[in-house]
Amino acid sequence: MKTEYRTKARTALLEFLQENPDRGFSAIDLLTYLQLNIDGVNKTTVYRNLDRLCEQGVIYKYRETEHEGWFYQYSPEHTNCSTHMHGKCSECGKLFHIEADFVKGFADNVKKTYGLKIDFGKTLLIGVCQNCTCK
Ligand SMILES: [Zn+2]
Ligand SMILES: [Zn+2]
Repeated sequence: MKTEYRTKARTALLEFLQENPDRGFSAIDLLTYLQLNIDGVNKTTVYRNLDRLCEQGVIYKYRETEHEGWFYQYSPEHTNCSTHMHGKCSECGKLFHIEADFVKGFADNVKKTYGLKIDFGKTLLIGVCQNCTCK
C-alpha cells in the first residue's frame, strides 16, 4: 500500500516535470498539481522528492529576487547547474542554461577586476527572450 502510494507520487511528479520543461515552478505549484491527482500528498513528500532530484542534478534550484522562496526547474540535459550561470525571461519565465565558454572568461575578468568571485549556482540573469521580444 505504501509502496503503491510512493510510486504514484513519483509518476505524477515526473508527469508534472515533463509538462513544464522550460518553466520554473515553486514547491507549492507542484504540491497543488499532485493534490489534484493523489489523495493525501503533503509538503514533506514534495520537498523530499525535490531535494532528491536536486541532488541527482535533474532539477535546478534557484532564488528569484522578486519572489519569496525557492524555485525549481526541470533540466534533465543539464546535470551540472552549479557550474554555469542561468538566465530567465521575465515575460514567459523560460530558463536558459548559459554554458558557453565566454561566460567563464567573463567571470574570470570580474574576479580579476573587482575581486568578486561569481557563484554560478546562485546567479540568475534577468532578460526578455527572443519569443517575447517579437510579440
Ligand atoms: Zn543549468
Ligand atoms: Zn520569454
